[in-house]
Amino acid sequence: MATARLTAVEVDYPGRGRALGPFDLTVNPGEIVAIVGPSGCGKSTALRLLAGLEDPTRGAVERTPGRGETSVVFQAPTLMPWASARTNVALPFELAGTPKGQARADADAALERVGLADAVDAKPAQLSGGMAMRVSIARALVTQPKLLLMDEPFAALDEITRRALGDDIHRLWDDTKPAIVFVTHNVEEAVYMAHRVVAMSAAPGRVHMTADVPGELPRAPHFRTTTEFRNIVETISDAMADTMSAVA
Ligand code: ADP
Repeated sequence: MATARLTAVEVDYPGRGRALGPFDLTVNPGEIVAIVGPSGCGKSTALRLLAGLEDPTRGAVERTPGRGETSVVFQAPTLMPWASARTNVALPFELAGTPKGQARADADAALERVGLADAVDAKPAQLSGGMAMRVSIARALVTQPKLLLMDEPFAALDEITRRALGDDIHRLWDDTKPAIVFVTHNVEEAVYMAHRVVAMSAAPGRVHMTADVPGELPRAPHFRTTTEFRNIVETISDAMADTMSAVA
């Protein structure tokens, strides 16, 4: 059974008209799907539907994750500024009423998995942008969700940090194999990160093309330099250029 499915969903906003769709997307267990598309085409809206944060105007949303089994990571790390990295990561446990000792131990283990074992006591202001995003990702995954939704999680970061975080996410994904849906502007990042890339047309966004990315996850070293990688990036970029010129 699919982890989540959008069937012919359309979203209209009052005064704005159609913001998305009709749009279809099936997310299978353990699958990483990247959504790329021009600004304003409805990527974040599609993610909110998958999260159950918003209902479509028309069409159907099916979700199998139960309460507490979906995590969302936003573009800016949404950390509590007064609290340590450990307390931030332990927040979902605190909300669920998990005993404090257990919550701390699990938070520390999650921070260690993202390379922040030495920063458990640090406050967000003491962390770099990349470190703060790692804390956000650790918090999203500490509860072992079945579905992880990420809205341009690397947009504010430099290229080296983006790449390191991408590999971190693959390593974490490999532990528990959640389904991941990931929004990005960056076609190379989409192809590197995902099993499948969905390219959307300009607003109101529909599926313009879908590409299956061959190869194993986590990626083999130097995957980015392979002809296979370059070809698929070019195919998707060309398709996106078509949709943009269609509205230009
Ligand atoms: P993307 O993530 O692809 O940039 P969004 O999903 O954020 O696109 O937005 C799609 C369109 O819907 C945009 O034109 C945006 O301004 C509009 N929109 C998004 N949320 C709302 C809202 N709550 N009310 C009105 N318009 C909205």
